[in-house]
Amino acid sequence: MTQATIIDGKAFAADLRAKVAQEVAALKAEHGITPGLAVVLVGEDPASQVYVRSKGQQTQEAGMYSETHRLPAETTQDDLLALVAKLNADPKIHGVLVQFPVPPHISQADVVAALSPDKDVDGLTVTNAGRLASGLPALTPCTPLGCMLLLKDVVDDLKGKNAVVIGRSNLMGKPMAQLLLAADCTVTIAHSRSQDLPGIVRQADIVVAAVGRAEMVKADWIKPGAVVIDVGITRFPARDPEAAAAGKTRLVGDVAFDEAKAVAGAITPVPGGVGPMTIACLLANTLTAAKRLSGIA
Ligand code: NAP
Repeated sequence: MTQATIIDGKAFAADLRAKVAQEVAALKAEHGITPGLAVVLVGEDPASQVYVRSKGQQTQEAGMYSETHRLPAETTQDDLLALVAKLNADPKIHGVLVQFPVPPHISQADVVAALSPDKDVDGLTVTNAGRLASGLPALTPCTPLGCMLLLKDVVDDLKGKNAVVIGRSNLMGKPMAQLLLAADCTVTIAHSRSQDLPGIVRQADIVVAAVGRAEMVKADWIKPGAVVIDVGITRFPARDPEAAAAGKTRLVGDVAFDEAKAVAGAITPVPGGVGPMTIACLLANTLTAAKRLSGIA
């Protein structure tokens, strides 16, 4: 039986980070501009702490200026919005990212609305979502952007392909569908109320699963040869009991990878597929924001 090509997101992301670092060096040398990213974390969610640390490290490794603001969980919404306003106005900073989830007393929507669209490197503001939907230059959410780069690398011609996106969040499903539409795919967005999800997925040349339900997509949902991009992350305790007791976790995607790889043409693993692309695209977005804010692109 033929096995799917395993899409190596880790290697692809390393290449992308190296390209961004080269461009950052050129921007500094030719224009004296150092792209700057500020990341804000409110509270002590363990997964968010890991993400924020990696974002800071990789920003510095790309030669950019990095600022991390760690605020206590009891920070008021007014104080958080005041920090966002300060970062919006700071000329050293070209990208502002507030790590979600924020504690429940803070409105995520109000935080997004407070971000300057020009510095919204997560692409979450209504302005950037509208620009993306209208085919105008936008800052595009990092994870769908990363999925799209992987897809363009593995699919020769996306035109006319049937693409099914499972999930309709503002962060993932909706912008993913917009990007696929812009690439001339025929796009279906499925969600928790969709009927006959396996039947919908079976029509797809391209499947993007962004749900957060471990191994929901089975091999017999997948059209032979389809390209499968697995965005989902569910954390389980590590298999090794000692590691589990020490709080170590393992990540599982939305696709039953072991059985699906016998049917798909290409598939992303979890971990090592989409995950590494997200931060690489955050760096790319920060570079884009720095160039646009400086009138260079
Ligand atoms: P989300 O906001 O919770 O959205 C999940 C979507 O899945 C919703 O649209 C929901 O439908 C749909 N859904 C839930 N149960 C379903 C079912 N049984 N059948 C079909 N659709 C169903 O999550 P998100 O932020 O988009 O993230 C999705 C997943 O991607 C999560 O596991 C997240 O951890 C992961 N993620 C990974 C990365 C990365 O870097 N790799 C980045 C972002 C997100 P309704 O709208 O009808 O409720």
